[in-house]
Amino acid sequence: MEKTIYDPVSVLQNVGEKRVEALNELGIYTIADLLNHFPFRYEDIQVKNLFELEDQEKTSLRGEVLADAVVSRFGYKKSRLSFRMKIDQAIIVVTFFNQPYLAKQIVGGSEITVYGKWDDRRKNLTGIKIIGSTSVEQDADFESVYHTNKKIRQKTIVALIKQAYDSYKDVIPETIPNELRVKYRLISHKEAVYAMHFPVSPEQTKQARREVIFEEFLLYQTKMQLLRKKQKKVGFGTAIHYDIQRLKNFIATLPFELTNAQKRVVNEICRDMKQPINMHRLLQGDVGSGKTLVAVLAIYAAATAGYQSALMVPTTILAEQHSKSLNDLFDPLEIRTALLTGSTTAKEKRLIEEQLRSGEIDVVVGTHALIQDTVEFSKLGLVITDEQHRFGVNQRKKLRSKGIEPDVLFMTATPIPRTLAITAFGEMDVSIIDEMPAGRKPIQTTWVKPKQFEHTLEFIEKQLSIGSQAYVICPLIEESESLDVKNATEVYQKLSQFYQGKYRVGLLHGQMKPAEKDAVMQAFKQNELQVLVSTTVIEVGVDVPNATTMVIYDADRFGLAQLHQLRGRVGRGSKESYCILVADPKGDMGIERMKIMTETNNGFILSEKDLELRGPGDVFGNKQSGIPDFKVGDIVTDFNALETARLDAAELVQRPDFESHPDFAALRTAIAFDPMTSESDVFH
Ligand code: ADP
Ligand code: MG
Repeated sequence: MEKTIYDPVSVLQNVGEKRVEALNELGIYTIADLLNHFPFRYEDIQVKNLFELEDQEKTSLRGEVLADAVVSRFGYKKSRLSFRMKIDQAIIVVTFFNQPYLAKQIVGGSEITVYGKWDDRRKNLTGIKIIGSTSVEQDADFESVYHTNKKIRQKTIVALIKQAYDSYKDVIPETIPNELRVKYRLISHKEAVYAMHFPVSPEQTKQARREVIFEEFLLYQTKMQLLRKKQKKVGFGTAIHYDIQRLKNFIATLPFELTNAQKRVVNEICRDMKQPINMHRLLQGDVGSGKTLVAVLAIYAAATAGYQSALMVPTTILAEQHSKSLNDLFDPLEIRTALLTGSTTAKEKRLIEEQLRSGEIDVVVGTHALIQDTVEFSKLGLVITDEQHRFGVNQRKKLRSKGIEPDVLFMTATPIPRTLAITAFGEMDVSIIDEMPAGRKPIQTTWVKPKQFEHTLEFIEKQLSIGSQAYVICPLIEESESLDVKNATEVYQKLSQFYQGKYRVGLLHGQMKPAEKDAVMQAFKQNELQVLVSTTVIEVGVDVPNATTMVIYDADRFGLAQLHQLRGRVGRGSKESYCILVADPKGDMGIERMKIMTETNNGFILSEKDLELRGPGDVFGNKQSGIPDFKVGDIVTDFNALETARLDAAELVQRPDFESHPDFAALRTAIAFDPMTSESDVFH
């Protein structure tokens, strides 16, 4: 067998079953994964001048060991090792705790370099490790620090990477085609990998990072551009020849005129559907910008051509709400809708499944229940997912696989700046509704400290007294759903007491049964409850136009995009609406975030700001957002590289010799070995 970097890590020495398992947990399966497991930071271990040290500074010091180390033991397994070290004319004491075995390396009269923490008052260095003695010379000024887990030690990872590098360095592929490497003056990947792990100078590490980031981005973008090419291949998707006249007639019956932005995106979507290509489009628009209506028009268009649609949403409440609005609009048009969720009875479900197979049902709305294996369609032409960031790649794929490559529309109210969306979702087309329907009043947002909460309760009461309703949102406590519920329950009890005899308060949280949740939601909709205390289950899409006030507890624990989404629950009617953020943020960033919320109602501005303040990982919640989780590159700070890689990749995949020329062989192989790609079969 020829040696390749796609060999499993088990080929390495000292890597048995246990280590394989530990490495797998870190996402490391192959030698390539191991070599790409780059340090997340570097420790400065340069030897410093004793007299320039700050108290508690971490540093390396080099000097002469005056006499053998002395070890004293105390307590259970505890020990202290200490020795005196002479640096120039000064003498300091070095102490190591609980590492008695180091004593044999510390020999009187020898030279040694110790990395540790400096106590300036006591002139003592608490040793962390020995990094050089006369026998083992240490030449680097920086040391790599890796992500690791409980099962494998930092030192072991370093040793394994060293072993992998030594035995595989001659087969490390140069994935970036040579012409691009020359164009961007990138060092070779082999050099870059070495410099990333075994840094010599900051300048060299910088060059290495440039190379490694571009490789990562180019690989991703090439993969995406190949997918895109496949989707755009004429004949690969279904041409949906909808009845344009019926669609126009339907639009004419709506009680309002579409906004220009809606008109534009409807055109974009219809154009895609009509072509015998595979639509793969992201529809972004602020809460309330009229995305659902756009979806309805697309579904209607598909139905006029005899195609079924599926609308997938994250929660049962949302599914029910969407199904209801679809019903209202579609009933007179004889478009048959169905609702399929976790709370659909087995009997109903069987019936719906039968009617989906026979084609009697035109559109089915549902949660994850939609993608169960028993659900089959007669002629699925269009799949729409609402809040795409809640669906994983595999779920989407599973649903798509039920039809004959249906057109896919992903709707999201998470505003991702346009340029970023186009670049990060390299394989998708992006449509944006950047305009609100006329007559919407901006939501007036204020920020109060928790101790002003009595005021807030009085403010809510004023709104209630003029017949409006209010939401009170309690934050999601990520570590524990039960704490979450406890929190909301406490707030609920407090408010119930406060408004006792005047207004009714309801409670909604994630641990309630779907039917219970639904009952509370219905009661709120019908104004039987005036105040609804809820966890973030309320977040997406719920529509109660008479609710004008939203209070968000611990608002600083939410992202700006999420706050904005929550806030979008109010301001749906003609009355003036209010959002009150209750928070006591720590630090300038938290304060700034609250201020921004009070200053703008534009989701795109907020998301840009949030990105700036918190970084993409926090804003888009990593895995769920659909935005890839890059190992080294950062989609915001390295945006230019990501965009450059996208343009280069788009050009590469169009070349007639892309699949044959040896210059691209390493890139093709890297793509084929990527677990995500091999699943989606880019090459036929
Ligand atoms: P989104 O799904 O983007 O949050 P919706 O489609 O639910 O927004 O629209 C919010 C509300 O605005 C709905 O009641 C909808 O009927 C209404 N609406 C949609 N488009 C328009 C428009 N062009 N003019 C006026 N109202 C509209
Ligand atoms: Mg099509």
